[in-house]
Amino acid sequence: MATSLTIALTKGRILAETLPLLARAGIEPAEDIASSRKLVFDTNRDGVRLLVLRGSDVATYVQFGVADMGVAGKDGLMEHGGEDFYEPLDLGIARCRLMTAALTGVQAKPGRIRVATKYVNVARRYYAEQGRQADIVKLYGGMELAPVMALADEIVDIVDSGNTLRANGLEARELIANISSRLIINKGAFKTKYRVIQPLVDELKQAVVGD
Ligand code: AMP
Repeated sequence: MATSLTIALTKGRILAETLPLLARAGIEPAEDIASSRKLVFDTNRDGVRLLVLRGSDVATYVQFGVADMGVAGKDGLMEHGGEDFYEPLDLGIARCRLMTAALTGVQAKPGRIRVATKYVNVARRYYAEQGRQADIVKLYGGMELAPVMALADEIVDIVDSGNTLRANGLEARELIANISSRLIINKGAFKTKYRVIQPLVDELKQAVVGD
């Protein structure tokens, strides 16, 4: 019997860019993921199945070994902060930047500031490293509104083209990290399923370089 392998994928734009890489590594979902509401999918490979999750949950599934491996944005991995998985491969997809941003033209306030973000752990670490005092306010979306409504002085968010910031009268300030999607592997699974996982990592590496 083929060794079972469960791969957790991040839905949305990361999924759209992950599927072609997986296909080049010989793994294709048995049905169209985009037009389905299912969260678990069989594939053309015996024993290999795909989970389709929110990015912030991929690391958790891999950490607990429910998924053997996963694909998630570096932003979510930084926020998760987990150490129970390996991160052997930068897939080079869904590139963007994690940045601070504030109202355009408004000077950074000295002293204690308020920062709105969904990346509370990342923000806490970043401002502490900068030696700046920051109260972090957790939001679940629409971070750009917070400085406009004076809920926060700054935000920490993903920036790609910068259009979302500009449309809301904000500008990017400091780069916290360049982001792309990464392959992560549960440490235990890497040992016990090495003979299945290592060739797949190699194939994905080839698929990434082949771009
Ligand atoms: P933009 O207006 O092009 O700067 O895009 C910014 C918004 O798109 C952000 O608020 C994010 O929610 C989302 N976004 C853009 N690129 C990514 C990415 N690679 N991963 C996750 N979210 C992204």
